[in-house]
Parts: sequence; C-alpha cells; structure tokens
Amino acid sequence: MADVLTSAQGIIAEALSGDAPACVTCSFQSEDVALVHLLLAARPGIDVLFLDTGYHFPEVYEYRDRIAGQFGIEVKNLTPARSVPEQEGAFGILYESDPSRCCNLRKVEPLMAGLAGYKLWFTGLRREQSPTRANLQPVETHSFPNGLSLTKLNPLFDWTMRDVEAYLAANEIPRLALYDAGYTSIGCAPCTAKPDPESHARSGRWGGRKLECGLHTVSEKAG
Ligand code: SF4
Repeated sequence: MADVLTSAQGIIAEALSGDAPACVTCSFQSEDVALVHLLLAARPGIDVLFLDTGYHFPEVYEYRDRIAGQFGIEVKNLTPARSVPEQEGAFGILYESDPSRCCNLRKVEPLMAGLAGYKLWFTGLRREQSPTRANLQPVETHSFPNGLSLTKLNPLFDWTMRDVEAYLAANEIPRLALYDAGYTSIGCAPCTAKPDPESHARSGRWGGRKLECGLHTVSEKAG
C-alpha cells in the first residue's frame, strides 16, 4: 500500500504543480472516492464531476450526498439532454435494446460537454478492474471526437482493490453499501449485476454484453 500511495501522490503532485484547470470524474465507487480524497489534499476545491444518468441505484445517490457532506464538497452533476422519462418516451428502453446508444446519450455526451475547459482529467481507473484496462498508463493524452484534447491521469492505475479498501479504512471513509451485498463494480442499476465469481470485477456489468460504457473508449489515446 505504501508504495502505490506514494506513487499516486507523486503523480497528483506533479500534475497539479501548475495551475491547469483540473477535474475528477467520480462514480462514487471506492477507487473514485479514494482518489477524490487524495486530490482534495493536493488541491482543495478541485471540481468533482458525477455523471448523473438518472438510472443509478438509490444507494449511490444517498452515498454521493453523504460523501459530499463528509468531504465538504459540492459535486457537479452532469446530466443528459433528456430526462429518463423523455428518453424512454422517445426511444423506449434503450438499456435493453441498444445499451451503447443509451450510454452515449446518458454518459458520453454529458462527459464531453462537462470536460470542456479542463486541461487535466483525473480518473480512478485501475488495471486490475478488467481486461480492457490492463494496459492503462498513469498519464495519457486523449483527443475526443468533438475536438477536445486533454491530459488524462490515472494515479491509481496499479492499485489493487485491497489497496483501495485499506486507504478508505485508514482515512475513516465509509464505502458504498452495495459492496456488502456482493457487487464489485457498480454503475447504473439496470446494467449492474453481481460478478461471475470466476471472472473479473466488471463481469457483472451489462449482462456480459460489453465491458465499457464508452467514457473511457470514446477518446483516442495520443500518448
Ligand atoms: S449503464 Fe445502462 S442505463 Fe446506464 S447509460 Fe449505460 S445502458 Fe443506459
């Protein structure tokens, strides 16, 4: 734990040594909460962005508000152009018929709009989470289809879940109660199930139909 913590703190300190506008996206899963806590120590007031799809578990909304209160922060909620009833009225239940389109409308488009103006984007991505993240680098340059280009930082890239849990415990930060119910990766409620015990942590997402919502695949890695 000590090594990966020192490494993460070093990545954060170097990135924030200037005054580049920075944000962190936070799903309120444990690694994201640990990262927000680390970032607030380095830059109090850093913008914390939450993709509010409207489909999250009630427990996630409650936990978001609880952590915001504990950390003394105001979370910036990024919302889609259409509310859930508007989207379902226009297109039906997209998370069943076309989850990629649903993720694009409710996550990717709000993210791209929300990242405008920032130069640094911190995420809590970890290599251990799934095969799609195995080659994750701590610092990457990304370009988006809308022309946005920024530095994406993944300070917890080499942390294990055990490291994350140790960090939360050491800092007396509670974790989302859904972990206690057996979930290991928690996103929108309709697309989140408990994982295959023989597989990776994200194996319960989207019924195995896909592994990424597009937030971390829509941009092109340039470095
Ligand atoms: S995770 Fe599911 S409900 Fe959430 S935006 Fe993607 S398809 Fe829609």
